[in-house]
Amino acid sequence: MTFPMNRASEWVTPSLQPAVLGILTLISLGVFLAGIWPKFRVLLRAAPDPRFDRPAKRLMNTLSIAFAQSKLFKNPAPGLMHAAIFWGFMVLLARAAQFFFIGFFPSAAFSFPGEAVWRGYSLFKDFTVLAVTLAVLYGLYRRLIVRPPRLNLSFQGNLILVLILVIMVTDVLFEGAFVAAHPQSGSPWEPLGTVAGRLFLAPLDPGVVANLHDFAYWGHVTAILFFLTLLPHSKHFHIITSIPNVFLSNVAGKGNLLRRIDFEAEGRESFGATRIEEFSWKALLDLHTCTECGRCDLFCPALKSGKPLSPKQLTLDLRDHLNRSTPRLLSPEPGAPGGDVPLLGGVIQDETVWSCTTCGACEEECPVMIEYVNKVVDLRRGLVLSESRYPAELKAAFKSLETNSNPWGFGRDSRADWARGLDVKLWDKDKPTEYLYFVGCNGAFDARGKKIAASVVSLLKSANVDFSILGVDEGCTGDPARRAGNEYLFDLLASQNAETFKERGVKKVIVHCPHCFNSLKNEYPEFGVNLEVVHHSELLEKLLQEGRLKTSPESDMRTVYHDSCYLGRHNKIYDAPRAVLSAKTAAPLEPENRRERGTCCGAGGARFLLEEKTGTRMSHQRVDELMATNPKTIAVSCPFCVLMLEDGLKAKNLADQVKVLDISEILGANPP
Ligand code: SF4
Ligand code: SF4
Repeated sequence: MTFPMNRASEWVTPSLQPAVLGILTLISLGVFLAGIWPKFRVLLRAAPDPRFDRPAKRLMNTLSIAFAQSKLFKNPAPGLMHAAIFWGFMVLLARAAQFFFIGFFPSAAFSFPGEAVWRGYSLFKDFTVLAVTLAVLYGLYRRLIVRPPRLNLSFQGNLILVLILVIMVTDVLFEGAFVAAHPQSGSPWEPLGTVAGRLFLAPLDPGVVANLHDFAYWGHVTAILFFLTLLPHSKHFHIITSIPNVFLSNVAGKGNLLRRIDFEAEGRESFGATRIEEFSWKALLDLHTCTECGRCDLFCPALKSGKPLSPKQLTLDLRDHLNRSTPRLLSPEPGAPGGDVPLLGGVIQDETVWSCTTCGACEEECPVMIEYVNKVVDLRRGLVLSESRYPAELKAAFKSLETNSNPWGFGRDSRADWARGLDVKLWDKDKPTEYLYFVGCNGAFDARGKKIAASVVSLLKSANVDFSILGVDEGCTGDPARRAGNEYLFDLLASQNAETFKERGVKKVIVHCPHCFNSLKNEYPEFGVNLEVVHHSELLEKLLQEGRLKTSPESDMRTVYHDSCYLGRHNKIYDAPRAVLSAKTAAPLEPENRRERGTCCGAGGARFLLEEKTGTRMSHQRVDELMATNPKTIAVSCPFCVLMLEDGLKAKNLADQVKVLDISEILGANPP
C-alpha cells in the first residue's frame, strides 16, 4: 500500500528541506551526545558491580516494572498519568520516525505492507495522542495548581510537559491541515486529524492552512529535537536510564547487601564510599535515574519521625555532587577542580547516614528501582573503615562483637544459658538433627528475647520437631556489624559461623529473628554455605497445617499484626505470621501501613544500638499507628520489634493495657 507523504513544508523548498532538517538533527544529536558522554565515561571508571546474572528474572522485572509500570500504580492517579505518557512515548516513536522520514525524503512515496496494520496503527496513534494530551494536562494541573510537597516543582519539569503537549498538538494540526487542503484524504482511521481538518481548518483560507501545515511540521520536529537536547541536563535523563536501571537492579533480594569487600585486594587504601567515585557504577547509574518523584520519602520512618534523612534528597545531593565532580573525574590532571566538598560530613552529613534503619521502604516505592540500603551502608563503611568516625555507642558494640560475638558485652561462654532447664539437645555432628535452631544474640542474651526462645522451643517440642542448638559455638551472624558499616567485623563473624556450619554439617536452620534469617539466607552463600533457612513463622504455619500443632482459638484477643521489615519487605514473608495468628484469633487487625508499606519500628540497620536523639522515636511513631486499631495485643515476629514496641508502649503509659507478643508466644502456652 502506498500513502501520500503529507510533504513536510512549503516554507523550505523541497530540495533544501532534508539539509535543514539534517543540520537541526545533527546539532541536537551533538548536544545530546556531548551531555551523556561524560556521564557514561564516569560510569565506565566507577567501581565494578556484576549485574548480569539471572537474565530471565531481570527481563521479567523489566517487563513488569519498566514496561508495565507496575510500581507506579500504587498511587493510581499520578501512576496512570505517568504510564500514559510512557506508553504513549513507545507508541509514538514510530510516528516520530515517520515525521523525520518525510522531512528527509519529501517527495518519496511511503510504502507499507498491509493496509489493515497501518490503519490500526493510525487509529491507535490518535487514541494515544489523546491519552498523552490528557495526561500532560493533568500533570501540569498537579504541578501548577495542586503542587504536592513530594514533587520538585522545577521549571524544567514544566517545560518538558509543555514540549510533550506541543508534540501532541502539532501532530493533530499537521494531519488536520493536510485533510483541510485535501478533503478526500480524511479517514475514520485518523479521526483527530480528520475532525480537526474538516470541522476547524477547512473553512480557513488555503494559504493559512498551508502555513499551519508547515508550522505543525517544523514545530513537531523542533520540539522533539529540543526535548532531546534537554534530556542529559535534566531529571528527564531517566527516560534513557530507567529501563536499563530496572534491568540491572538487585535481583538477589533487598536484604542482600551486595559486594562483600575483598580486604586482601592489593592497593586498597580506603573501604566503602568516602568519595563519589568509590560508589559502584550501578550506584551512579541510580543517581542519574532519579525522577524526583518523591515516592521514596512517603514511607521513610526516619523522615517521618523528624530525622535529617530524606531519601530523595540524599539521591539528589549525591547526583548533584556527581555532576559537579565529573570534570575532575575525567581530567587527566590530578587535583583538577570539581566537586571539592568532601562527600562524608560535607555533601552528606553523618547524622543523615546514621538515621537510616535500612528498612527498605524507600526502595519498595521507587518506580525505577533505585537502591538506598547499599548506598547508605557504603557510606557507613566509609565512615567506619576509612575515616574511623562513628557514634560512640558503636565502639563498645564493635568491641563486644569482636571478643564475645554479641553486641552487648555478655560473656561468650554464657551464650547457652538461655536453654538451661529447657532440655534442648546440643548439635552432635555424628547424630545431626533435622534442624539447627539458631537462636541469635537477642534470644540468647536479652531477658525478653529468652522468653521468646523458650516459646519457640516449647512449640517445636510439642510438634516433635527434630532440632538441636549450637550452644556456645553459635556466634552473632554479624548483621549489626555489617549494617553499621563494619564490614571487616561482619566478615570475621560470618566466616566463623560459616566454618562451624560446614564443619558440623548443618543444612537446615530455624530462626525466629528476621535479621538472622536474612543474613544466613541471603548473605552467607558468599561465605560458602547455602543453608535452607526457615523462619519460625513459616515452620509454625506448616506444623499447624499438618496438624502437628494444636491450638484453641480465642475470640477476644483484638490482635494487630506489625510487619518486620527484614521478614516482610526484605524477604517477602507476609502471610505466614498472619496464618499462624489466624489459628489462634480472628483474622488479625491491620494497621493502615502494613505489609510492603509497614512502618519500621526503628531497630534495623543496627539502629537498636544507637540513641535516638533527634525528632520522635520511631518506635513511638509506630506504636501510634498500631494503636489506631485499638488492639489488646500487638503481634510481631521479630524479637527486636518486641523490644522497640514495648519501649514505645511504656513511654506512652500503655504497657498495662496492651501487650507485645511474638507469634510463638500467642500460639503457645508460654506467655511472658
Ligand atoms: S531504608 Fe528506610 S530509613 Fe533508610 S532511607 Fe529508606 S525508608 Fe528511610
Ligand atoms: S529515588 Fe525513586 S522514588 Fe525517590 S525521588 Fe527518585 S525516582 Fe522517585
